[in-house]
Amino acid sequence: MTTLLGLDVTGRPVLVAGGGAVAARRATSMAADGAVVTVVAPQLCEDLVDAVLDGALTWVDREVCEGDVEGMWLVHAATDDARANARLCDWATARRTWSVCASEVGEGTARTPATARHAGLVVGVASTDGPDPARARAVRDQLALTLETGDLDLRRHRPVSASGGGNRVGRVVLVGGGPGAADLITVRGRQALAEADVVVTDRLGPTSLLRSLRKDVEVIDVGKVPGAHATTQDEINAVLVEQAQRGRVVVRLKGGDPFLFGRGGEEQSELAAHGIPVEVVPGVSSALAGPAAAGIPVTHRGTVGAVHVAHGHGTLNRAAVQCVVDSSATLVVLMGVSLLGQHVAQLLAAGASPATPVAVVEDATLPSQRVTRAALCDVVEAARESGVRAPAVVVVGDVAVAGLLAAPP
Ligand code: SAH
Repeated sequence: MTTLLGLDVTGRPVLVAGGGAVAARRATSMAADGAVVTVVAPQLCEDLVDAVLDGALTWVDREVCEGDVEGMWLVHAATDDARANARLCDWATARRTWSVCASEVGEGTARTPATARHAGLVVGVASTDGPDPARARAVRDQLALTLETGDLDLRRHRPVSASGGGNRVGRVVLVGGGPGAADLITVRGRQALAEADVVVTDRLGPTSLLRSLRKDVEVIDVGKVPGAHATTQDEINAVLVEQAQRGRVVVRLKGGDPFLFGRGGEEQSELAAHGIPVEVVPGVSSALAGPAAAGIPVTHRGTVGAVHVAHGHGTLNRAAVQCVVDSSATLVVLMGVSLLGQHVAQLLAAGASPATPVAVVEDATLPSQRVTRAALCDVVEAARESGVRAPAVVVVGDVAVAGLLAAPP
């Protein structure tokens, strides 16, 4: 029967016999885990030569002999001679040293499990009956995929601390959640959610994902507070700092990308000022995903080769206006629904063609997505008629015309 043990090989001598690809894999992974690796082989493959030159392991240039086992905690028999491997394993067993035989798994006293590492964990798979490395690897690959896609609860039950005890160190992950559809968050964003003790969320983004969190993950909604009091940025910063200082893994879940009109920069500086580690996970921004979900390419060969993203709080900036006037870039306005009339008037007054196509994409990527299209001079009326509401992106320019991508007749 096989038992799986987590061996701490740090600083412990390990022997690898053989100079080929299998020996190279074993030797480099043992060295990476901190073992003091000696490779004994008359010849080395390129990877082993590199590792020797890097100083990662020591090379003894000859065939392995019985004396090499002396003082070793573990032996890997990985020469291309099955009989020599079996003999080396016997020498090791006689000294009560564990051995792994590369040519015939049954020969040694240990097996190397197929392993996957993720988020500070290592998962090993080995067969308990007849050895079947290909099966173990296949199972390992599937486990690795499950770990990586964020479907498992990966929260820590014991905090990591720099000193090995005491001081709890929290951290914050600013996650760009994408435009709203649950499957448009990145894999890394999902992984962060799987490790979160607390999620501080906005109104926009993949809020439907919050329902799939484990019940004891705390969710703090800073996008919408009962009583219509909007949480200020200072209050949000304070929540993030306080939660992290309690030693928790905090996910700050935002719509789109954290650094595009997401105030992610301010949160990052505030956390850094408190010495709290911050990681940023980029997200699919509604500025690009909104148009894309409506079938609008923001740049299109032969039509336009640039895009300008602006916010619609107040008057549009000069470059935003100019790019529409001279058709040099597609203009994408975020947070532009309530001042749409003012922006249209500004563009027309600056000389933009009244026929410039405009598309307004509401609730992009969600089942409620709706697209309203009209010429610049008619879009305010069209938006009023259809009752356009935030969140929406406004796309102005030739690419917004209906049927741009229609297949040629
Ligand atoms: N950081 C976000 C933008 C935050 S500003 C991002 O990168 O997407 C908020 C604005 O984003 C909204 O007012 C709206 O203009 C736009 N927005 C966000 N999600 C949207 C969606 N699903 N559909 C349309 N517009 C969206």
